Amino acid sequence: MAKRLVILGGGESGVGTAILGKKKGYDVFVSDFGKIKDNYKEVLALNKLPWEEEQHTESLILNADVVMKSPGIPDKSPIVKKLMEKGVPVISEIEFAQQFIEVDTIGITGSNGKTTTTMLTHHLVKQGGLNFGLAGNIGKSFAWQIAENKHEGYVLELSSFQLDGIVDYRPHIAVITNISPDHLDRYEYKYENYIAAKFRITMNQTENDYLVYDADDEIISKWLGEHKIKAKKIPFSLTKELNEGIYLKNNTIISNITNEEFTMPINELSLEGKHNVKNAMAATAVAQLMRIRKDTIRESLSNFQGVEHRLEKVLKIQNVQYINDSKATNTNATFFALDSMAAPTVWIVGGVDKGNDYDELMPLVREKVKAIVALGVDNEKIKKAFESVVDVLVETTSMTEAVKIAQKLAEKGDTVLLSPACASFDLFENYEDRGKQFKNAVQNL
Ligand code: ADP
Repeated sequence: MAKRLVILGGGESGVGTAILGKKKGYDVFVSDFGKIKDNYKEVLALNKLPWEEEQHTESLILNADVVMKSPGIPDKSPIVKKLMEKGVPVISEIEFAQQFIEVDTIGITGSNGKTTTTMLTHHLVKQGGLNFGLAGNIGKSFAWQIAENKHEGYVLELSSFQLDGIVDYRPHIAVITNISPDHLDRYEYKYENYIAAKFRITMNQTENDYLVYDADDEIISKWLGEHKIKAKKIPFSLTKELNEGIYLKNNTIISNITNEEFTMPINELSLEGKHNVKNAMAATAVAQLMRIRKDTIRESLSNFQGVEHRLEKVLKIQNVQYINDSKATNTNATFFALDSMAAPTVWIVGGVDKGNDYDELMPLVREKVKAIVALGVDNEKIKKAFESVVDVLVETTSMTEAVKIAQKLAEKGDTVLLSPACASFDLFENYEDRGKQFKNAVQNL
């Protein structure tokens, strides 16, 4: 009899898993406690896949042999608890899908920089002539791609939630970009649980695999000092020379991880900012391990187009540069944005605070920020933190207004930066909506 695969969540990863599961002979059922989007309903219908929405019918779920839980659903939701009590394996899309491929994957995780590093890495391996898929939290789901395409390998962006649900998944090359507190509500408010989730990326790796990581990151170094891993370690650093790894010297990236020494001046990178030097180092390490030619790596690092909503240059108006960094939803991301500002900055900040500690931003704000436009339903914390640090602080509750005020405050040669350090759902649908509204408002100035 066919094994029963129940899928919780009818979004991108759920629908992809359903398609792959059916193709592999499972008896598939999709259950979503919310509403399933129309485009996914069409796909489910087209593939004759049974589904339900706005409910979880236990009699159709608890009889599963295996359950794929979408990353948005927490472990503490009642249906997941019941499944776990019954001993039904609850896994992530990545875990379910990986059993059907024999090719290697490159898995990229971290608190910030995942999408940028994943897209840059994919760009490098593609330019190097390898037909790799791009998946994980980006674009078409991993499972769906496996069902439909033949790739030589995959570059995967992996959140801690995807990693929570792995059992056997083993990336040939794993990358941890950095670790700072995030999503603690899903980890019993224990930072160590979140850190441990990130390091699951290396738990199944062998001596033939690699872990690329930021050696300047204290949390990562501490964890690696306390735990043994099998993978070969490939560190990168902005601050120290490494015997084996990638580091910065005289504003040049130097890599000595293979017999081929690679160097590249950072002013030739298409992406700006220190954090992007780190991301470029991580991607370069992967490309070198994949034996991509040095010239190709260099060329690809200098022609990469960047990713929307991440320090994205929008327009220059009356010699004021407008930059959209809407994806900066925590202070660590905003730290790097402010750090990379070369001109006096009018900073648009605010939204839903996830427990921010603004202290770490203070020196940068003093140095770079001439005025603050606070954009959120509740701006009290921002006001309190920065009132005494900047000369001008204006509160607003709409993007159009925020951009207009920023324009008034900015003078020739300045930069207007949207880097909110907060989540977006008080005034916007999500960070993409926030970034798009910013770009529209700038275009309409
Ligand atoms: P993620 O997918 O992990 O959220 P993104 O690449 O989407 O990461 O970037 C999220 C935010 O973090 C953006 O504001 C970006 O400018 C910033 N950022 C990118 N790379 C790094 C990094 N290595 N360290 C800290 N912040 C980063």
